[in-house]
Amino acid sequence: MNADTADAAIRVSHVVKTYPLGAGEVVAVDHLSLDIAYGEFVAIVGRSGSGKTTLLNLLAGIDRPTSGTVHVARADLGSLSESGLATWRGHNVGLVFQFFQLLPTLTVVENVMLPMDFARKVPVADRRDRALHLLDRVGIGDQADKLPATLSGGQQQRAAIARALANDPPLLLADEPTGNLDSHTADAVLKLFADLNADGRTIVVVTHERDIRSIVGREVTLVDRRIVDDERTGASA
Ligand code: ADP
Ligand code: MG
Repeated sequence: MNADTADAAIRVSHVVKTYPLGAGEVVAVDHLSLDIAYGEFVAIVGRSGSGKTTLLNLLAGIDRPTSGTVHVARADLGSLSESGLATWRGHNVGLVFQFFQLLPTLTVVENVMLPMDFARKVPVADRRDRALHLLDRVGIGDQADKLPATLSGGQQQRAAIARALANDPPLLLADEPTGNLDSHTADAVLKLFADLNADGRTIVVVTHERDIRSIVGREVTLVDRRIVDDERTGASA
C-alpha cells in the first residue's frame, strides 16, 4: 500500500476516544491506527461493544477523537470546525445505517434528493433526474414516488444507499447495514455494495455477516476497542 497520505482514503493515527461516565470515563477506542487506500472494500467486525460504531463515527466526523488524528478523503478532520465538518461530510461521505433512517413523510425520491439540497453540489434542475437514476442503479426505480413505510426492509435499505450516493462521495460508510434484514435480502444488499466498490468507490462496512470474507477485500477485527487482526481476504477489492 502506498504510504503517502494523499493516496490514503483513510488514515487513523493513534486514536483514543473516551466518553465521560459518572466520575470516570469509558474507553470506546484505544490507541487505534488504520490506513485504508482508495478503492478498498473493508469489513470491520467484532462483538458488541468492541468500538465499531465509535470508529465509524470518527471516520464520518460525527465524533471527534480524544487524542490522535483522523485524515479522511484528503482532510484532517481535527482541523475542521463543526460547519466545516458538515460541509466536508456532505461532499465526501455517504452514510448507511442499520435502521435505514429515511424520513417517513418524504417520498423515496425526495429522500434521495435531500443530501443534494444540503450540499448544493448538484444543480437544482438536475437533482430529481439524478435521484431517479440512483434509484435505478440500486434496483428500485419503480418505488420512487412511494413513502418509505410502504417498501420492504431491503428496498428501504436500497433507498438509503441511493441517498448515500446522492452527492457522489468517494467513500461509503455503513454501520450494520444488513442487521435488520433477512439473510437472503442481506446477501443482495452486500452484493450491491460489492458492485459499488467495483465501480471504484471506497467502502467500509461494520457487519456481523458470517460469510463477509467472500465479499470484501479486507477484514479488520476489533476486540476490546483495539484492532487484533487485519487480513486480506482474497475477494476482489
Ligand atoms: P460497537 O459498535 O462495536 O458495539 P461502540 O463503538 O458502540 O461498540 O461502543 C464501544 C464502547 O464505548 C462500549 O463500551 C460502549 O458502551 C461505549 N460507548 C459508546 N458510545 C458511548 C457514549 N456515547 N457514551 C458512553 N459510552 C459509550
Ligand atoms: Mg455498533
